[in-house]
Amino acid sequence: MQVSSQHNCRAAPRVVVVGAGVGGLVAAAELAQHGAAVTVLERAAQTGGKLREAGTGAGRGDAGPTVFTMRWVFDELFEALGESEGLPLAPLPLLARHAWPDGGVLDLHADLEHSADAIGRFAGAAEARGYRDFSARAQAVYAALEGPFLRASRPNPLSLLLRGGWRGLPGLLRIAPFVTLWSSLGTHFRDARLRQLFGRYATYCGASPYACPATLMLVAHVERAGVWRVEGGMRGIARHLERLLARRGALLRCGADVRRLHLARGRIAGVELASGEHLAADAVVWAGDSAALAAGLLGPALRQAAPPPRQRSLSALTWNLAARTEGLPLAHHNVFFGPSYADEFDALFRHARLPGVPTTYVCAPDAGEAAAAQRLFCLVNAPAGRELPDEEIDECEQQTFRHLARCGLSLRAIEGTTARTTPMDFARMFPGSAGALYGEASHGWQASFRRPTQRTTIPGLVLAGGTTHPGPGVPMAALSGRLAAAELRRQWRAQRVSISLSRPAAMPGGISTP
Ligand SMILES: Cc1cc2nc3c(=O)[nH]c(=O)nc-3n(C[C@H](O)[C@H](O)[C@H](O)COP(=O)(O)OP(=O)(O)OC[C@H]3O[C@@H](n4cnc5c(N)ncnc54)[C@H](O)[C@@H]3O)c2cc1C
Repeated sequence: MQVSSQHNCRAAPRVVVVGAGVGGLVAAAELAQHGAAVTVLERAAQTGGKLREAGTGAGRGDAGPTVFTMRWVFDELFEALGESEGLPLAPLPLLARHAWPDGGVLDLHADLEHSADAIGRFAGAAEARGYRDFSARAQAVYAALEGPFLRASRPNPLSLLLRGGWRGLPGLLRIAPFVTLWSSLGTHFRDARLRQLFGRYATYCGASPYACPATLMLVAHVERAGVWRVEGGMRGIARHLERLLARRGALLRCGADVRRLHLARGRIAGVELASGEHLAADAVVWAGDSAALAAGLLGPALRQAAPPPRQRSLSALTWNLAARTEGLPLAHHNVFFGPSYADEFDALFRHARLPGVPTTYVCAPDAGEAAAAQRLFCLVNAPAGRELPDEEIDECEQQTFRHLARCGLSLRAIEGTTARTTPMDFARMFPGSAGALYGEASHGWQASFRRPTQRTTIPGLVLAGGTTHPGPGVPMAALSGRLAAAELRRQWRAQRVSISLSRPAAMPGGISTP
């Protein structure tokens, strides 16, 4: 399909968005809203990127993100786009069920006092007090960072101080960037299981709780502020964004693999597809893995456009299956902790191996429904950047399901219906990532400031997605898309490019697949 002929509004800058993950789709919707002639190119057969699904014997289920938080990000996006219809969300009062091989089971709830009571029964009154203190601290960290970091376009330690001002200083001092999450948890909890539980939030960014700053405790607050179930599955988010694109006249082409970004006089000039087709562009939003640029996958001229990751974040080994379950009743989100977190992260980051007995996350979207077999999504953390031998993966698979049984959950999978995804599968799906799912590992206090921001060294090229600022996760990738659109508009204002402030009414939009 010839794209340029479809966009005949002369004033409209032509923007090509490469990658239809959350970040790319959000950037595309915002830019189209502001009058740009937008084409989204996606190498896969459908949109969503990591928002994938896989088939099981009991139907299709999420095979990527499952925990939906920070709904305000999407509420604000839809408001900015003038859309009254939001995502089909239902709140989950029970945030997650946690189980250990010693038989311990602990539920965390959206309601703080409900959780504190549960922790009191599980580990004693002192630990319940520790939880209340921890929650207050996590909330303060979040409050100190939402404006100056998450929403800011190019934050650095100084800008954080300046934006917070003197009155913000106490909040900033509490974010504890120089202390690891693990040691900070030691000041709140004596019970090793609770340290494990709250240390696990580091893995939401693909990091180790022993190496990431205590600042990441903000994830605990984000979860407590609300976890929602997306009716119909997480891929519905991508489908919803697709509809917004079509309404704004943006073009979406799936099966369009971009091989080169072209420059002319140091500026972005267009893209070249694997098929050899060229598309001219005034601007490009690169919304694939930012590491692909430094790796030279988009051409040698782009190598310096954004910094490469120093240490890759975690990958994952996942299974989608249909199974009959017995024993521990499942909630929507469940975590089965391994016996030693220290060994687990040593294996993952020091030896780049799968853990011996891995902590296992199980999503059970059909939990509580009367059905012979339910859909399950199981995930264990895995190292990125290394081709794991089949024997190591098979061994980990056996250990994982034995571990679930030791924690009280037995599964009888329906034969022949399990879909397994390995780190190398992820590496193939997301070029440049080496299988890392969250970009650079958030290890050390500087890591969050080292992530590529939306601005690159090349005029007209901006970045979006979970490997860029403000970080990984569905809502964060959406924020990055908004920041990418804002950065391009800033560049256009600086160049005095006039674009209409309302969306073009008569542009034909649509989806094409090869
Ligand atoms: C197993 C798993 C579990 C997760 N769990 C959660 C969770 O519970 N909650 C949460 O909030 N987050 C979770 N995440 C993280 C979250 O999914 C991601 O951070 C987010 O979806 C990334 O979005 P993105 O914008 O970076 O795009 P991606 O999803 O990375 O998509 C990038 C797109 O770019 C395309 N692309 C790349 N190169 C090219 C090219 N050359 N030409 C054309 N197209 C190209 C790719 O095909 C892909 O579609 C999870 C991720 C995974 C994988």
